[in-house]
Amino acid sequence: MAQLSDDCFAFGGPMMSVDGAVGLITTRVNAITDLETVALVDADGRVLARDIAAPLPLPPFSNSAVDGYAVRNADLPQSAEQAMPLDGRIQAGGAAHAPIKPGHTARIFTGAPMPPGAETVFMQEDVRIDASGKIVLPAGLKPGANVRPAGEDIPQGQIALRAGQRLRPQHVALAAAFGLVRLDVIRRIRVAVFSTGDELASPGEPRAASQLFDSNRFMLMAMLRRLGCEVSDLGILRDERTSLANGLKQVAGSHDLILTTGGVSTGEEDHVKAAVESIGSLVLWRMAIKPGRPVAMGIIEGTPLIGLPGNPVASFVTFVHVVRPTVLALAGSLPEPLLPIPVRAAFTYKKKIGRREYVRATLRCGEDGALEAVKFPREGAGLLSSLVDTDGLIELGEDVIRVEPGQSVGFLSYADLL
Ligand code: AMP
Ligand code: MG
Repeated sequence: MAQLSDDCFAFGGPMMSVDGAVGLITTRVNAITDLETVALVDADGRVLARDIAAPLPLPPFSNSAVDGYAVRNADLPQSAEQAMPLDGRIQAGGAAHAPIKPGHTARIFTGAPMPPGAETVFMQEDVRIDASGKIVLPAGLKPGANVRPAGEDIPQGQIALRAGQRLRPQHVALAAAFGLVRLDVIRRIRVAVFSTGDELASPGEPRAASQLFDSNRFMLMAMLRRLGCEVSDLGILRDERTSLANGLKQVAGSHDLILTTGGVSTGEEDHVKAAVESIGSLVLWRMAIKPGRPVAMGIIEGTPLIGLPGNPVASFVTFVHVVRPTVLALAGSLPEPLLPIPVRAAFTYKKKIGRREYVRATLRCGEDGALEAVKFPREGAGLLSSLVDTDGLIELGEDVIRVEPGQSVGFLSYADLL
């Protein structure tokens, strides 16, 4: 497990900026280095453990990019079209057994290896066949046209995939193109997830009139799984210091990260801070982010703990900015900064200077075809419908105090967060 010192999340300032939080997490968290080997079909979403140098060039041999006719560069018609006799026919998967004869052209198909000596291919649409069966090639084609030289995509020996890359389908495709069957990846990080709160009942259990069903735990577990974590569902802890402390202590040694939701404000019934302090160390980060509230960062027996706020939207947004970078850092992944895409605001908004705000928004296509963001009409941090009925978050930087319709704002799609 990742062992961290008790004071690694200590922070001197009154307010933690979002960038400050990400910076502090990525420098303090130790990446896991345990490896495992997975079959290519299971590699999507895993973090690559070692650099991969191309074991062969891509493409592995020079081949035709089109269906057409191959010629030597020395035979390319210069000023007038020229009729050439055929010498050979090479299809994909086939091979030319002899070099192309001077003054001849070879019938060739997309993906077929170039016959020795041939360097340029005429597209079949650009030639005609004369009465004698010769191929009439037009003048002026650039030498090397319509050929994919060996190694033009990736030369042999080049580092093609980097250690720390979170593998996506295109990375898996590249490994397959190299003929690799198995990949060394970092083992999945193990995350223990608890909800806290006497007002919570688990779906499937009886719910008292004053209770609501626990939704955050299922949201957070789903988000963690999308980040490639192995998740332990540890249910709901009651708002009571000793049972909280016992529950958390039990999982510390066997997990890489403990994640809780609820109970981290400073009210009398918020017991996470005291519970963690009785068995480890904890700091409350007052984050300059809305929605959000204090986020708890702690260490129990060397295992990091993050305590997210209970309000579902605050929990979601702080997950994105605190848990996501922590998980990526623990998992040995290269940082994946979130890059908002500029869209046009279709709303008015006022905000306080000095804090980052995230506005839930839906995208639509404006009359001129440009993308516009429409703000969700209500703002409560408890409104799950606001996350369900929108497409993503508008990021308003610390310096922004007002948004007017027509202004350019940065949009983070939910699809890009995980
Ligand atoms: P807390 O952060 O514990 O003060 O909770 C803030 C608000 O979020 C309260 O209204 C809680 O009922 C609600 N809440 C806390 N935990 C959850 C949860 N796991 N699922 C849904 N709502 C929650
Ligand atoms: Mg609570």
